[in-house]
Amino acid sequence: MIRKHIFTAGPCLLPQRVYDEAAAALRDFAGTGVSVLSVSHRSGEWVALMDDTRALWRELLAIPDGYEVVFMAGGASMQFLCVAANLLRRKAGYVNSGVWAAKAMKEAQGFGNAVELASSADRNFSYVPRGYEIPEDLDYLHITTNNTIYGTQLREDPVCPVNLVADMSSDILSRPVDVSRYALIYGGAQKNAGTAGVGFAIIRPDILGKVERHIPSMLDYRVQINNGSMFNTPPVFPVFVMNRTLHWIKDSGGVEALEKLNRAKADVLYAEVDRNSLFRGTAAVEDRSLMNVTFDMAPGFENLLDPFVDYATRSGIVGIRGHRLAGGLRASIYNACTMEDVQALVNCMKDFEKTYGRW
Ligand SMILES: *Cc1c(COP(=O)(O)O)cnc(C)c1O
Repeated sequence: MIRKHIFTAGPCLLPQRVYDEAAAALRDFAGTGVSVLSVSHRSGEWVALMDDTRALWRELLAIPDGYEVVFMAGGASMQFLCVAANLLRRKAGYVNSGVWAAKAMKEAQGFGNAVELASSADRNFSYVPRGYEIPEDLDYLHITTNNTIYGTQLREDPVCPVNLVADMSSDILSRPVDVSRYALIYGGAQKNAGTAGVGFAIIRPDILGKVERHIPSMLDYRVQINNGSMFNTPPVFPVFVMNRTLHWIKDSGGVEALEKLNRAKADVLYAEVDRNSLFRGTAAVEDRSLMNVTFDMAPGFENLLDPFVDYATRSGIVGIRGHRLAGGLRASIYNACTMEDVQALVNCMKDFEKTYGRW
């Protein structure tokens, strides 16, 4: 059993049930008597698991017919270059809403003209850029729906005049998504969909096959689609963990139920950040993420950052230091994080204020 309150940003906390099922499958996968680490990926049991995993994605996100779901090793960073290799002909637009968005754009620049259409760098990525011009001649527009490092989130699915591509690594499966608004949605699994080692892409296939360059087979979405994400040996254990995580989401009432819970958790934590005299939130209030709550010591209390982290550690709280590029504090409260975990952090903040506050 987990005995700590875990707020790491990714790889993140998974439900206890998933840890238990993963541990059991290391000994015996699906009653085969063979470990999931050793089962043939061409066996009937494994192929059934791949099919089941795709079907769960479709069901949980109500993915419209015609879209394809693929799993690929390499995480979201691999998708940065897959997107550009498969889709970038002349020009793509990128919204620079944080470090991950900038990295996605940089990878695309190796394949063609990837232009920055908007940026929130002027205020350290503390808000989501809006109201920018979208040229009609873009092959696609790339956005990042949840900026994991800075704690900002675009919670609506935008209507976009060109193909919309979204990195949803850190808020996928945390809320219902209108998939039909997107040409491609991708991410790494380790924030809400499982553990590190595999990425997912949800693709409207009519966007494929338009570039003239040679796409290496491993990066070619058409090759992945045609081979059921098993062009080569898939990352079996991360895919297994993804499958069990998706089952847990389904049994928890699906993404609608989880969204309610996620909102409730975020409300409780932001309320304490706003109330507590020792802390302040760092993201623009209207863009606050329900997944990554970023905060810092209030002005005048900056020297209490390390003491607070130590204090929290002694209370069994893990992973609340901010990303090294952002500093401060960050509590990642993905699907598997419970209201009890959030309450433990809130209680710790209250106790800390009693001990160190000026009144
Ligand atoms: C974590 C993260 C990434 C990078 O994921 P990897 O799987 O480590 O490549 C990219 N984008 C976002 C929004 C992330 O949160």
